[in-house]
Amino acid sequence: MSYQLWPTEAVGVRNRFWQHLQWLEPLLSAHKSVPGCVVLSLCMLPFLLLFWGMHSWALFDSAAGQFYRRELLMPVQSLLTINILLLAGIAVLYWPRYRSEQSRPLLVLVTTCTLFFTLSGLTVLYGHKDAPLAIVQLGLLLLARGLFTTRQLLPALVIAALLVLGTEALVALGKLRYAPLLVEPIFTGGTLNWWWDIWVRVIYNIAVLLFSAMLFFLFWIMDRRQAQLEQLTRVDTLTGLLNRTTFMRQLEEEGRKQLRTQRPASVLMCDIDHFKQINDNHGHAAGDLVLQRFGELLRNATRHPVDVAGRFGGEEFVVLLPETDLPNARVVAERICEQLRDEHFEVDGKSFRVTVSIGLAEARDGNGERALRIADEHLYRAKHTGRDRVMSY
Ligand code: GH3
Ligand code: MG
Ligand code: MG
Repeated sequence: MSYQLWPTEAVGVRNRFWQHLQWLEPLLSAHKSVPGCVVLSLCMLPFLLLFWGMHSWALFDSAAGQFYRRELLMPVQSLLTINILLLAGIAVLYWPRYRSEQSRPLLVLVTTCTLFFTLSGLTVLYGHKDAPLAIVQLGLLLLARGLFTTRQLLPALVIAALLVLGTEALVALGKLRYAPLLVEPIFTGGTLNWWWDIWVRVIYNIAVLLFSAMLFFLFWIMDRRQAQLEQLTRVDTLTGLLNRTTFMRQLEEEGRKQLRTQRPASVLMCDIDHFKQINDNHGHAAGDLVLQRFGELLRNATRHPVDVAGRFGGEEFVVLLPETDLPNARVVAERICEQLRDEHFEVDGKSFRVTVSIGLAEARDGNGERALRIADEHLYRAKHTGRDRVMSY
């Protein structure tokens, strides 16, 4: 049996949409050097290329170029070109080693420092208060923190902070012009200049969209993990049945219901016969297979979701049959016994059969725990009178 933690029907439209991005999920928490650097470079390169295109346009078109301080534009563009080539080189070079688990501190250092230096530099050059670059930087920060640890990011963060805060101080002291790459004034009156207006909108919208998508994706990951953890605390991972704690909770709930409705309810306590011998003769894996198949058998022999089957521990299983009196519960128990008896197990070419003993009892006055104790006593007698049978008295 292949146990599925995520039943297909539980995966809604929202999950199906985000699942296309599922490959990013392990990256966003594993802090692996190579995949982290490849993803970070690939995600940020479009932004850098956008600025590269913007500068190229300004260099070759005098109408667009009039908004830049030309003496700075050329060196900035040269540095940007080098950094883009470096990051593109990292992405291309390490793409084939995308699944590498190796720790590459130097690669992380070069990638993150280059990116934070470039983006912070651009933010300072364009004036961080007015250019939407601050949002791109926030996006970079969020993505980078997802891909790497704070310790890995520390040098890049220091560079970015020094650049931004340093220039802020210099501007405040009157030693540096605000937005030094642009001519003054970049704003013409109350409205933005047409050329700057286009770029502000393009960069701003792309940045906001990506940033929001990233946030939502992270929340989706957290929701999913939470649901998976909840599921793990509810079920027994080997058989997919409820675990002991959850079963006992359900039994208690059923007891309260019985007090209200006065309807019958029965419990089955099942214990696989000579299970230790199965482990000893065929190996632990064969024992696990038997447990899985028996879990499957219990699921098929009962009415889901009315009946509740659980693994009580080891090779002991319990079933709660609401709305079922003792004679009817006995029919279900006999069926389970019979089906397991007919089941044919084969491991390493050796075949064997397995039987189960079942004790059952009807719950009275809403006391499920007492019914379970009585069922256990009946199971004990089933064992002592020859196994492979159902005992209800
Ligand atoms: P009886 O017919 O009297 O019930 O005998 P038994 O051998 O089934 O019972 P016993 O309590 O002596 O042995 C139960 C064994 O189940 C011992 C334990 O190693 C094994 N077991 C418990 N949990 C697991 C499991 O998850 N997987 C496997 N393969 N074996 C398990
Ligand atoms: Mg046992
Ligand atoms: Mg047993």
